[in-house]
Amino acid sequence: MNAICDDITTLSVDAIVNAANASLMGGGGVDGAIHRAAGPRLLHECRLLGGCKTGEAKLTGGHGLPARFIVHTVGPVWHGGGDGEDELLASCYRKSCELASAQPAIRTLAFPCISTGIYGFPFERAARIAIRECAAHTDRLITTFCCFSERDRNVYSQLLEEHGRRVAD
Ligand code: ADP
Repeated sequence: MNAICDDITTLSVDAIVNAANASLMGGGGVDGAIHRAAGPRLLHECRLLGGCKTGEAKLTGGHGLPARFIVHTVGPVWHGGGDGEDELLASCYRKSCELASAQPAIRTLAFPCISTGIYGFPFERAARIAIRECAAHTDRLITTFCCFSERDRNVYSQLLEEHGRRVAD
């Protein structure tokens, strides 16, 4: 697992994860950027999937992206933490890892910081969940956390270091 600061739509990995909304028809933030970069064939493929529930994940092709696949997952909207948000976010990471692991052509996978933009999930709390779940569910995969600012990447770098020390103990 590693953390970088980049535009996830430019990454040459086997699969990127999209922080989608339940309609899977595109939206703002990273979702909009992915749809713009992948082109209209992505929307066409998504239309056939019948949406996606919060905490679930669905796979499409990458179309115009350098990445061959996109894992679409729907993160929870933050309502203060008493609404099962932690478990739903954990489920996004777990289900995305499982879906990617089941596809033999996927060896490298990049995640955006799901739910931490428009959906308002506290950043460090989300990052701890992301690292814990990816550590537990990505045996075969090389996972990158693709942050959109240096500040966010620093949070991940520090938490990954802590995680590495715990695993080594
Ligand atoms: P959500 O609705 O799940 O909160 P957002 O797209 O609003 O999704 O934000 C999720 C995260 O994606 C935020 O940390 C935001 O900074 C980041 N982000 C936005 N655009 C990109 C991009 N092109 N590449 C990588 N991360 C991005």
